[in-house]
Amino acid sequence: MATATLSIDLDAIARNWRALDALSAPGVETAAVVKADGYGLGAARVAGRLARAGARRFFVATAEEGAALRQALGEAAQIMVFSGHMPGDTDMIGDLGLVPMLNSLEQITRHLEALPGHPFGIQLDTGMNRLGMEAAEWETVAPIVLSARPVLLISHLACADEPGHAANAAQLAEFRRMTDGAGVPRSLAATGGVLLGEDYHFDLTRPGVGLYGGLPFAAAEPVVRLSLPVIQVREVAAGETVGYGCGWTAPAPRRIATLAAGYADGLIRAMSNAARLWAGATPCPLVGRVSMDLVTADVTGLDAAPQTLDILCPEQTVDALADAAGTIGYEILTALGPRYARRYAEGRG
Ligand SMILES: *Cc1c(COP(=O)(O)O)cnc(C)c1O
Repeated sequence: MATATLSIDLDAIARNWRALDALSAPGVETAAVVKADGYGLGAARVAGRLARAGARRFFVATAEEGAALRQALGEAAQIMVFSGHMPGDTDMIGDLGLVPMLNSLEQITRHLEALPGHPFGIQLDTGMNRLGMEAAEWETVAPIVLSARPVLLISHLACADEPGHAANAAQLAEFRRMTDGAGVPRSLAATGGVLLGEDYHFDLTRPGVGLYGGLPFAAAEPVVRLSLPVIQVREVAAGETVGYGCGWTAPAPRRIATLAAGYADGLIRAMSNAARLWAGATPCPLVGRVSMDLVTADVTGLDAAPQTLDILCPEQTVDALADAAGTIGYEILTALGPRYARRYAEGRG
């Protein structure tokens, strides 16, 4: 079968969630961010496992993602939507009990008019300039908005993966200035913010990438293994080339394996001549350009022709593969394509 297998260790995700939860004080709630289909790994399966581990609140990017998650999780879970309340979202938010994080006066007005009494949170901009209300705007409307009783005030750190960055303390101070005394639960920390320490934790943390084994949570357990079937193995002579654009030239006689996954599956072209595939602990360089459905690897160093090689495994984590391709682990995870056979491992713990 020329379909690669993406193995997802749901128990490792649960252990990563518990490990992040243990970094904040017992009174601080740890939510889970499962946007972009659980960072590419399957939001329903991930959130279901985390609900069993004790997570009660889940964040998604859009109301549509929230609707899909509601189907999977049932009524008890709290589902929060980062993009807030957009035109056309009202029925989904209302009928499915989603909690929008309102980002602007326009969204606040829309929400309070369309769904009076329906829970909402507020996202504040403390310096990232991406989503949320700016300080001046917030100060004007805060008394009115607070009287409608938001369930959560959040903001997001721009540089939390760089502990020494001055923006962290500046955003923390601004968040305090904008929310102290509001009497509403607060949340500032994603994965990076959890690692910055208790000052950043407030009432609720909302890690994403660390759950899935990615940096900046360096202590995370790896979660994914991606195994590619070998379709064909051939011998090439010194001076022969491999792949589109004759992108690699054999320096000596070499054995080349052709494997079933390519850039249509999220193995981005920047991995060409840069990443490695793995036979257990033995690395095999990816040689030549990544094609749409195929990659080629130099397996000369192996004793026997392999049946499969791994491109994500404990030897090459999402961040190591990202480094080879000049990107970040987040992008490697969320690029994982729909063609893989996804296998979930889940015990009872
Ligand atoms: C994606 C996101 C998170 C989770 O971030 P990680 O770095 O993956 O932990 C938390 N909060 C907001 C607002 C986000 O957009």
